[in-house]
Amino acid sequence: MKHIEKIDPQVYRILSDELLREQKNLELIASENFTSLAVLEAQGSVMTNKYAEGYPKARWYGGCLYVDEVERLAIERAKKLFGAEHANVQAHSGTQANMAVYFACLKAGDKILALDLACGGHLSHGHPHSFSGQFYKVFTYGVDKKTECLDYDEILFLAKKHKPRLILAGASAYPRKMDFKKFRQICDKVGAYLFVDMAHIAGLVAAGLHPSPVPYADFVTSTTHKTLRGPRGGFILCKKEFAKKIDLEIFPGIQGGPLMHVIAAKAIAFKEAATRAFRIYQERVVENARVLSAALEESGFRIVSGGTDTHLFLVDLRPKGISGKEASDVLEQAGITVNKNLIPFDERPPAVTSGIRLGTPAVTTRGMREKEMRKIAQFIHLAIENRYHPEKLSAIKKEVLALTKKFPLYPELRSR
Ligand SMILES: *Cc1c(COP(=O)(O)O)cnc(C)c1O
Repeated sequence: MKHIEKIDPQVYRILSDELLREQKNLELIASENFTSLAVLEAQGSVMTNKYAEGYPKARWYGGCLYVDEVERLAIERAKKLFGAEHANVQAHSGTQANMAVYFACLKAGDKILALDLACGGHLSHGHPHSFSGQFYKVFTYGVDKKTECLDYDEILFLAKKHKPRLILAGASAYPRKMDFKKFRQICDKVGAYLFVDMAHIAGLVAAGLHPSPVPYADFVTSTTHKTLRGPRGGFILCKKEFAKKIDLEIFPGIQGGPLMHVIAAKAIAFKEAATRAFRIYQERVVENARVLSAALEESGFRIVSGGTDTHLFLVDLRPKGISGKEASDVLEQAGITVNKNLIPFDERPPAVTSGIRLGTPAVTTRGMREKEMRKIAQFIHLAIENRYHPEKLSAIKKEVLALTKKFPLYPELRSR
């Protein structure tokens, strides 16, 4: 960052502080990860300079020789990685990818059926303040009260009752595997499109650790920056018959020029995700989530649905008499970063919540394994127990620092 240091000391200081924060803390936010240096480099590359409205070989601007090459590479790699007929890699984010799918197959006022936010759904799946909730008539399905897992009979019942034009599967906070084949059968019974948003699980799907939605869904969207460990962004996979429509909805439908530097980084991420090393990484992510959730359960926390099949899980804090907001504040003081999260049938509002969501993608990228997960569970337990003792929280923070030091992050990058 030597150029930033010279030109803009203020931004340099801020970026350095962020690097230090990422290096020193335990990152347990399930939607975050640490990209490779190759992905970082591509995002800081000269392709940020290039306008490329349109698609490879059909651009509005000259000079697109090389951006065409890199976008084609990203598309081919995405298609191969997920076995898809068509890929659009231009979506600036997961939400933009979702918007393009809605616009491609719905009219304003059409009905959609999606997972309830409190049961793990995403804002872009129909929250009243999201465009999705304003443009469409949204019905939701939840999880079973007892198992806290999806109840496919209930989803079928609701699908028959509401006759949605589109059914959405996919979540931001659902710890169990989803059965996309069952979703397909439900969609076929009521004549709805199946749209799977795999933003969270894309890395697991790429590694073969979660069943793929691609054979079943009409549309699949994802982010590239969560378990997939690429740059911040989105992409869309679909059947050939929808290819043109999706491409038109992204550009000129809802976006202007693509972020070619990010698309170059996406190409790299898709390549990395096809390796054996990535598969082993994902296996460790899932194993770490299992160990961390089990260790917390032993310390008296309740784990929603009794555990996890994926990279994340939800902790019900009610047995500890603390809210999600309070817990995430306390953990932050101990150098542990998490997010508060609604749990199914939560009685507290979304800004308070009764739970936290924990995920292992980022700590696993640092190389941590089962032994460290048990240690982290202990830190979390101790921090919550000692939440009114700042000196105890500081002591835990020191131990967190000692642990993160043993698993260096971006040692190649210089911080202040
Ligand atoms: C994270 C997420 C998104 C949105 O991604 P952004 O890039 O933040 O817009 C969409 N859907 C699901 C299920 C997600 O978890």
